Amino acid sequence: MEKKDENERGPAFVISPFFPSTEFPVLVLSLSFVRLVVLRGGGQVFTMSCSEKRRRGGGQVDFNDTPEEAEWRAKCVQWLEERADRREEAGAENLRGPFAAERDASGLMASAKAWQAQKFDAGFAKISWEPEFGGCGGTPMQQVIFGQEESKYKVQTDPFMIGLGMVAPTIRTCGTDAQRERYLKKLVRGEEVWCQLFSEPGAGSDVASLSTSAQRDGDEWLLSGQKVWTSGAQFSDFGEIICRTDPDAPKHRGITAFIVDMKAPGVTVQPLRQMTGGAAFNEVFFDEVRVPDSNRLGDVNKGWTVAITTLMNERASIGSGGSMSGGLRPLIEYAKKTGKATDPLVRQQLADLHIRSRIMKYNGMRSLTSLSQGTVPGPEGSIGKLFGSTLLTDIGALTMSLLGPEGTAEINDRFDWHLMMVGAPGMHLGGGTDEVMKNIIGERVLQLPGEPRVDKDVAWKDVPKGV
Ligand SMILES: Cc1cc2nc3c(=O)[nH]c(=O)nc-3n(C[C@H](O)[C@H](O)[C@H](O)COP(=O)(O)OP(=O)(O)OC[C@H]3O[C@@H](n4cnc5c(N)ncnc54)[C@H](O)[C@@H]3O)c2cc1C
Repeated sequence: MEKKDENERGPAFVISPFFPSTEFPVLVLSLSFVRLVVLRGGGQVFTMSCSEKRRRGGGQVDFNDTPEEAEWRAKCVQWLEERADRREEAGAENLRGPFAAERDASGLMASAKAWQAQKFDAGFAKISWEPEFGGCGGTPMQQVIFGQEESKYKVQTDPFMIGLGMVAPTIRTCGTDAQRERYLKKLVRGEEVWCQLFSEPGAGSDVASLSTSAQRDGDEWLLSGQKVWTSGAQFSDFGEIICRTDPDAPKHRGITAFIVDMKAPGVTVQPLRQMTGGAAFNEVFFDEVRVPDSNRLGDVNKGWTVAITTLMNERASIGSGGSMSGGLRPLIEYAKKTGKATDPLVRQQLADLHIRSRIMKYNGMRSLTSLSQGTVPGPEGSIGKLFGSTLLTDIGALTMSLLGPEGTAEINDRFDWHLMMVGAPGMHLGGGTDEVMKNIIGERVLQLPGEPRVDKDVAWKDVPKGV
């Protein structure tokens, strides 16, 4: 069935200091996007109509590169070979590197910025964009292929995941000419790092219920409130923030989006230490932070449209990086080396995980097939997110049961096994919790009745909070 595993298009596990457990590039369809869709009651995004199915060839998955894609892949490999070192197959660095970097952020940022600048100058930074914005007028599929190949090399790309995947397309679509001129090139070239300031302590899955306020003061706005789980805020120069500007309107209709300078007076960033030992995300406090009106993204009270643009655009970063590491292959190697693989029960458990990782890969290929054919990936994204986070947790659990106490130690020349275990829970939450995934699958895939949305038309200020 599979022609060549090496160029596999399947979903990948990447452990990132910015998304501190794993990213599921193929299946993720925005870690935050999914939560919006279910709460908006939209419906159209994850529903695959019969005509769409027909367009996609009756749901058949194409596992191979087209001749054009193969040619592009060869070009990417050549460029990468000339500039970067390959990662070892299933080597410790696959997991260890990113986490080590999380603990040495300054080194990470310098090397990530240098690599991003090289990509920009070669047209690989934002492949589907024009050369002046770091692109070469390519296709989303070419971006995916470059990401697949790039993930096999020892290069650091994590700091730009949010900026490139989510913020840059938003500025391009919703920003003014002046904003595009000022921010885009520096963002895509990696000179300025960006974060996404959406989630709040009281607004996660239901992010439209946010409380951080922006009040007009002449040509400026005063921002006050708190955001949380802001990945990479401590390294960021700017953030895309959504704020409440009309408490009298229903929750989706009183929100405005802004570009905020993360170094402005009144911004306080407090990293949150995680179980992994790293501090990938933050609490961010805003105390009457002044933002010029020229930094408003989109119209006043139309910020929900801007937010959706941001979250929809995470799709463009599908497959933008990652190798099929995820810890299973090193675990299989370990079981073989230590003789544990002769235990029938262990063999069954390893086989089960392997089968599930293949299922995830092929489900991810469905997204890539539609992307390759120029259509929008369907509900497989939410299925994959749910399936993948459970798989990762189960890999971590088997790892710990095989290694015993040894698995908790951090040993220099070895895979950081314990990170598998402590990094996995974040995947059940980040950008759409398991329950939200199930709601999406229920409503959009199985067409079950929708959740009641009682506050949809009620003024935000009248909606009970903290209950
Ligand atoms: C690793 C990581 C990185 C992140 N990075 C960012 C970032 O850079 N920027 C940003 O803005 N946010 C970020 N987030 C936040 C992320 O988007 C939220 O964690 C997520 O949307 C869930 O929100 P919450 O944590 O507030 O949980 P809540 O929404 O409060 O959910 C609490 C519980 O209630 C359940 N629940 C909620 N609603 C429903 C429902 N309708 N039906 C059934 N059950 C429900 C949930 O499943 C969960 O179990 C990140 C999160 C993680 C884990």
